[in-house]
Amino acid sequence: MTDYDAIVIGAGNGGLTAAASLAKAGASVLLLERHNIPGGAATSFCRGRFEFEVALHQLSGIGSSEYPGPLRGLLDRIGVMDKLEFVEMDDLYRIVVQSENFDLTLRPDIKEVVRELQLRFPSEKEAIADFFNFVYRFFSEVIGVYYMQDPETSPEKYPLYFKYALKSTQQVLDEFFKEPLLKTAVSPYWTYIGLPPKKMNFSDMAAMFFGFCEFKPYHLKGGSMALSSALAEVVTENGGTIQYNCGARKIIIEEGRVRGVVTDMGEEITCRYIVSNASKITTYVDLIGSEHIPESTMKELKQSRISQAGFILYMGLDCEPETVGITESTNFLMGNTDEDAAFERMKELDISSQDALVLSCYDLRDKEFSPEGASQVALVTLKYGQPWLKIPPDEYYDTKFKCADQMLKVIEPLYPDLRKHIEEIEVATPITCMRYLGHPTGAIYGFEHHIKDSDHFIANRSEIKGLYGAGGWVGLCGFQPTLESGVKAARSIKREIKKAEEVA
Ligand SMILES: Cc1cc2nc3c(=O)[nH]c(=O)nc-3n(C[C@H](O)[C@H](O)[C@H](O)COP(=O)(O)OP(=O)(O)OC[C@H]3O[C@@H](n4cnc5c(N)ncnc54)[C@H](O)[C@@H]3O)c2cc1C
Repeated sequence: MTDYDAIVIGAGNGGLTAAASLAKAGASVLLLERHNIPGGAATSFCRGRFEFEVALHQLSGIGSSEYPGPLRGLLDRIGVMDKLEFVEMDDLYRIVVQSENFDLTLRPDIKEVVRELQLRFPSEKEAIADFFNFVYRFFSEVIGVYYMQDPETSPEKYPLYFKYALKSTQQVLDEFFKEPLLKTAVSPYWTYIGLPPKKMNFSDMAAMFFGFCEFKPYHLKGGSMALSSALAEVVTENGGTIQYNCGARKIIIEEGRVRGVVTDMGEEITCRYIVSNASKITTYVDLIGSEHIPESTMKELKQSRISQAGFILYMGLDCEPETVGITESTNFLMGNTDEDAAFERMKELDISSQDALVLSCYDLRDKEFSPEGASQVALVTLKYGQPWLKIPPDEYYDTKFKCADQMLKVIEPLYPDLRKHIEEIEVATPITCMRYLGHPTGAIYGFEHHIKDSDHFIANRSEIKGLYGAGGWVGLCGFQPTLESGVKAARSIKREIKKAEEVA
């Protein structure tokens, strides 16, 4: 068959949920993926006796079966819940600020968060209680306006939403708190968005605090690969086709409407709808071609800024995590309280104690994650891809190992014995991210998500008929938002198919 209702380009989170939802609804679907496995960033790879998790540190939106989060409901409706086992993490995060000798662990429970912070910052006791009370009240209004799409919104009904939805995180922190260290202690999630508190929308910060405290951070047995494989199975079990090792080279547009795709193999396949999980730049510039790009889309592409890629050490240790002092699953390791300086460091190639690092370890909560007596650790920092693109090929390996060594030196004061216990190590640079995800400069967070680019303004709509986007380039990045975006794209297509059938 060379004609489908829908072709989905890319089997990352967004592509997989789009293809699975469409196939379940009875649409004929072809999913094209350039890599030889599904998942995009949501995959694993093997080195020695370890299967390394590529991306998932903290999964949001799951909740328990008694108190389900939105992502649990979504995965249930797609039909993968019985294939998955979730592991609840017992820390929200540990944050270390080396210059201040500050070390704090918060548990994923709002009362505990408030209590612990009040103990550490007694002079701001009331402000801490007020702030988190405010985060909850504000986010309840966001749910009403944005998620429930209340048709009758007004500043009287949603006063906090109207006042704060477009404020920066820094503006709100400054309104509540005095001590810079406290502000740093409650805002490390900025590294999950890639913009420091001054540039980051407060709504995004509130969403993470609310989401992780209400529905807890989770990990998956078998890692994110288990989720990607389960979603791919739903596609094929419902009659969909997946072609791995086969990308889309061109999207065929006729009279302002998608007509099909030309694959990397040169095969032309027709369809009525396309969901692209590739980057927006790849989709429009490479696949569609500048002659078909609508003016407003071109303007949007020119105005947007591409986010950072990751520099990541995947380490297999020959010991349990506690042996080297790793006691929490999620650890934000900050040099000091200057988030703007840490953000500026992301433009540099080298790694120093001023960089913001995140160290994750799943073995603390899932004793079967690594071989018995061993464990694995992911150490990540964000780096823009441009400096890496300038490195001559014959200097690439030396540079990457030099940066890996610098990164290990930064964490040495905290984990002095870790290096001795490294049995396997793999280093991923922005070039690696670029190679495996196909995104420009290896960006892992899509376009930068400045306040002006907030989801409160941007709709996932294309001016090319039949074209939809899914994944981290059409909204926020992260597992929950990208998985949701594919379902949203599929829902719009299902609506269009139904409308077309009614007319016919
Ligand atoms: C190191 C790291 C840590 C992270 N930690 C977390 C975390 O703890 N919690 C969290 O929620 N999120 C985390 N994220 C973010 C999350 O992994 C991503 O936001 C999400 O996986 C992106 O999904 P996506 O749908 O945008 O697709 P992507 O993962 O970007 O995949 C896109 C897919 O499209 C394919 N493709 C591209 N071009 C073509 C083409 N022309 N033809 C065919 N296929 C094509 C690619 O091969 C790829 O498979 C992390 C990411 C990284 C990299």
